[in-house]
Amino acid sequence: MSAAKKSESVRKKSAARKGTVPKLPKLEPTDDSAPKFDVFAASKRSEIMRKVKSTKNKSTELRLMEEFKRLGVTGWRRQAKLFGKPDFLFPKLRIAVFVDGCFWHGHRCRNTTPKDHADYWRIKIERNQARDRAATEHLEALGYRVVRVWECEFKKANADLLEEKLRPIVDAFRAAQKNARK
Ligand SMILES: [Zn+2]
Repeated sequence: MSAAKKSESVRKKSAARKGTVPKLPKLEPTDDSAPKFDVFAASKRSEIMRKVKSTKNKSTELRLMEEFKRLGVTGWRRQAKLFGKPDFLFPKLRIAVFVDGCFWHGHRCRNTTPKDHADYWRIKIERNQARDRAATEHLEALGYRVVRVWECEFKKANADLLEEKLRPIVDAFRAAQKNARK
């Protein structure tokens, strides 16, 4: 066994002992783009991509914006330069909101992991999940409450779930308004 291989295996073992997530192999820089290397024929890949839909598709973010408007919540910022890039940041309320795609971020509601190249998808999804956890921890350490909304929570059947998830934001917003009026 080479020295490099040996240290890799030691590192993995120690990560497993600590219960931390081992660093996953580098695939590509962004978490929601199509695979850059050609493991699929173009037609096959576009078929898969149609099925799995991207995380950061505009429609879920727009739908969340509509929810905020409906609930009378304002004051969010987009593209805040914070680790993990929250989709919405409420700086005054110290709340960061993510809208996560169920496939890419490994929500258990989905059972659509393609059978072909299952390892590829699993590694990619686990890597996203590890990054999500790291971002949440980082933001919480900065004093933010982190709210993660799943894509599937925009389904009509999950309206109550979404309402519940957004309630802390609504409450914090109203409390801040009350304080401002005092
Ligand atoms: Zn889901």
